Amino acid sequence: MEIVPEGIKKSTWNKVLDYIAMSDEPPPYLLMDKEVIREKVGQIGRTIRNAKVFYAVKANPDIEVCRFLAEQGLGFEIASEGELRILAEIGVAPERIITSNPMKTFRFMEEAVAYGVNYFAYDTRPEVDKMARYAPGANVYVRLVVPNEGSEWPLSKKFGVEIEEAAELLIYARDKGLNPVGITFHVGSQCNNPYNWQSAVDKARELWETAAEAGIQLRMLDIGGGYPIRYTKNVVEIETIEKKIDKALRQRFAEDVEIFIEPGRAVVGDSGVFVGTVIGKTKRSGDENWLYIDVGVFNGLMESVGGIKYNYIVGARGEARSWTVCGPSCDSMDVIDKEAELPEPEVGNRILIPSAGAYTISYASEFNGFSIPKVILI
Ligand SMILES: *Cc1c(COP(=O)(O)O)cnc(C)c1O
Repeated sequence: MEIVPEGIKKSTWNKVLDYIAMSDEPPPYLLMDKEVIREKVGQIGRTIRNAKVFYAVKANPDIEVCRFLAEQGLGFEIASEGELRILAEIGVAPERIITSNPMKTFRFMEEAVAYGVNYFAYDTRPEVDKMARYAPGANVYVRLVVPNEGSEWPLSKKFGVEIEEAAELLIYARDKGLNPVGITFHVGSQCNNPYNWQSAVDKARELWETAAEAGIQLRMLDIGGGYPIRYTKNVVEIETIEKKIDKALRQRFAEDVEIFIEPGRAVVGDSGVFVGTVIGKTKRSGDENWLYIDVGVFNGLMESVGGIKYNYIVGARGEARSWTVCGPSCDSMDVIDKEAELPEPEVGNRILIPSAGAYTISYASEFNGFSIPKVILI
């Protein structure tokens, strides 16, 4: 096919078609275009001075994806012993690993410390006690609560404290023999509002000064993740976001402050293309078009429930119509889209879903006996 469908790069499109033609791998599977990942790795952090990038493994913990990212020189942000074991298996040095999970399991603390991980986030006193017991003297950073407006996946309510409490927690950590080094925040995932980072940087600056007054000289600011990718709508460019962040940082912070960035979605999201199959279609309630495919909410497209809208590519050429698209399981929650515009495919046809590299496989379960799609780097 000569025409490249919307929502996919021409080079990726060609690779995907070649793979499908050459391979006898049964769908569904997730193809990840290495070239797109490499490009994103090249973009992220480039426009922010003193920035180090730590890939948030939960976005896609596939071991080959992690290996590829390690080869590209990225660090890693992890939250669990499972994520740690993946990195251990590919030999990532502990200096390249941080954990920004403010509520760590005991088992994870034990394994992370044994491995040599030495950067831990927190936002409560009991967590300080835990870290002081398992990781005496470790570098710790406090999670500040910041506005999450304009992000499709807000996170802030679960974690983070206000400035005053954060300052107290930094002091408490120092008094417990830990080494308070910095501040972190998260503006929310798929954040299309650059001002979130600006106001977060302002807030972090205030905390930085409050800490200094209490005799704690911080050296690191971790600006979290949240960079958006394109699904069906255009989003703000990473460079545009980073220029704004960098400007705010230059205005508020000294030259030598270390900046950590922890993107997940933006690193791997738009490199991924699900290859699935149309397994059924019908009309229900009179004139509603229903389409059934072999990738659904439970085995890869969980984020559709939270409002992420995907593009669907089918080989049919007819006029586009509105479809309710469902996954293969027997659960009524397994509906991915209630108004997908696409031409009518035949049962048995391939269906492609771009921008599926992040928060798909990592969320997937084998609910109802449907297997988790294999990840294949192309
Ligand atoms: C999930 C998460 C990230 C990555 O967020 P994205 O929106 O995927 O960039 C970074 N840091 C922490 C602490 C997270 O929980």
